[in-house]
Amino acid sequence: TAADTLKALRAKLSPQGDVVSPRGRALTREVFGEALAPREVVQRILEQVRTRGCEALLEFTRKLDHADLTPDTLRVSADELAQAHRAAAPEYLDTIRRVRGHLEAFQTAILHQDITVQRGPGHRLTQRYRPLKRVGVCVPGGAAAYPSSLMMTVIPARAAGVEQIAVVVPPTAFGGYNANLLAACHELGVTEIYRIGGAQAVAALAYGVEGIAPVDKIVGPGNLFVALAKQAVYGVVDIDSIAGPSEVVVLADETARPDYLAADLISQAEHAPGSSLLITWVEGLAEQVLIHLERQLAGLERGDLARESLEQFGALIRVANRDEAIALTNQIAPEHLHISTNQPAEDAERLHAAGAIFLGHDAPVAAGDYAAGPSHVLPTGGTPRWASGLCSNDFLKRTSLIEIDHDGLAALAPDITRLADIEGLPGHKLSVTIRLDSRPTPGQPG
Ligand code: NAD
Repeated sequence: TAADTLKALRAKLSPQGDVVSPRGRALTREVFGEALAPREVVQRILEQVRTRGCEALLEFTRKLDHADLTPDTLRVSADELAQAHRAAAPEYLDTIRRVRGHLEAFQTAILHQDITVQRGPGHRLTQRYRPLKRVGVCVPGGAAAYPSSLMMTVIPARAAGVEQIAVVVPPTAFGGYNANLLAACHELGVTEIYRIGGAQAVAALAYGVEGIAPVDKIVGPGNLFVALAKQAVYGVVDIDSIAGPSEVVVLADETARPDYLAADLISQAEHAPGSSLLITWVEGLAEQVLIHLERQLAGLERGDLARESLEQFGALIRVANRDEAIALTNQIAPEHLHISTNQPAEDAERLHAAGAIFLGHDAPVAAGDYAAGPSHVLPTGGTPRWASGLCSNDFLKRTSLIEIDHDGLAALAPDITRLADIEGLPGHKLSVTIRLDSRPTPGQPG
């Protein structure tokens, strides 16, 4: 039945859950002396860093990341940044600059503007936006280096006008010691970078420790420990979202090329784990895609990882027609949706639950991952039903400005006083009547 299919597909969309690799479990036992669930691990780390500060931060960095740092070596120095930038390939820096241009243009254009509404004489309302002052950005670095994630978080924050950006990245060759990542930081003007990762980095940003001031909001992707830590500190600070492993649904009709489709599915699966679902109503298309999947996986460097992901979290689904494909996709609510049909804009109108939608045969998800303009930090695990991807507006807070003069208050007074009476709050009523009584409204008897 449709419900069973959906349940099975949802299971494919959340491969990470609370599961940690055998190596991760062994590390937990080594550090805490017992087998603990990831949530418990995170709670203990947060508590220790909150109460013991930098000492605990350095201790967890030593035990979990095997890096012996001091308060001085924790922060990447200005010299290291400049040196990494000097050593970077000019073409790489050109790419960073061009991508920055695309992101900045889009993220600036979509910024909310202040809006003022005049409700009558002496009654004016404004919704005002101001940037957050200080933001923490998590850049992953456990298994690969992600200059793209740096750009996809820092550039929207900058577009919003955030003054202080503190980047945390694990002390690894993929992270705080990665020359390409440091060169990108320098190019983007990011100067505050700490070589810390996991839950301990989130704790340092949320609570602050000696040498690291607390932030207002923490954004950026990460593994399960980072995600759980962000969830736990929400309320002390704001966070962007709790993102899980990457997902794509590719919607294809008879105009789609099976070799393109195979490449699109592999490009998500190689995140390992990553979910890749093809949905089509075209007879025989899935079978053709399967042939190309085999061919492409055989020649790919990360082919084995992608194959494992596809076997566990991939599916080729044939439905009766376009309407069914659209209904199923809306129910799945994927992180990425690629519409590979002859009428992508028309189809997109009816697709309302996806983190980002890629339209047409020549718009692979990789374009959004690396260069297009919207951030690649997107909601996953069915949350696109109600959540949205990160953008510059997420770094703004809004405040209402309420301007009311004597005439404006007089016009509102009957309603305010009636509601104050009903709610039994005479002090509220008095704060209105005292003004009207002391200075009668012009033209009305005193
Ligand atoms: P990471 O850099 O997020 O976290 C590494 C940290 O986890 C380590 O520093 C360590 O402190 C902590 N840790 C590891 N094992 C632990 C254990 N057993 N107990 C306590 N703490 C432990 O890790 P990563 O491996 O690079 O993973 C990054 C994740 O982010 C991947 O799943 C990747 O696919 C995802 N990602 C998502 C996006 C996106 O935009 N959606 C972009 C890039 C990466």
